Amino acid sequence: MSTPTPQPEPQPETTISMPPGWTIEEIEEMLRESMFGTDLDGVCCSCGNTQYGVEPDAEGYKCEDCGAMAVCGPHTLMFSLGGE
Ligand SMILES: [Zn+2]
Repeated sequence: MSTPTPQPEPQPETTISMPPGWTIEEIEEMLRESMFGTDLDGVCCSCGNTQYGVEPDAEGYKCEDCGAMAVCGPHTLMFSLGGE
């Protein structure tokens, strides 16, 4: 009797896109605040909700507002959206 090795569940990839209602400048500003202040904010890429207590390099946290695994920190957002 052999037990098949359980396959790891494929992790849904976090789609990082510009959060609704946000501009790259606002995310840049948030990143600056996270570097020089004590505020840790992230943004939901799905609904644009601002979520507190999110590390700057967080990715795919659960949104308290819409429930999507789409909350990212400003560093992650800038890196993915600002690109170069
Ligand atoms: Zn959301």
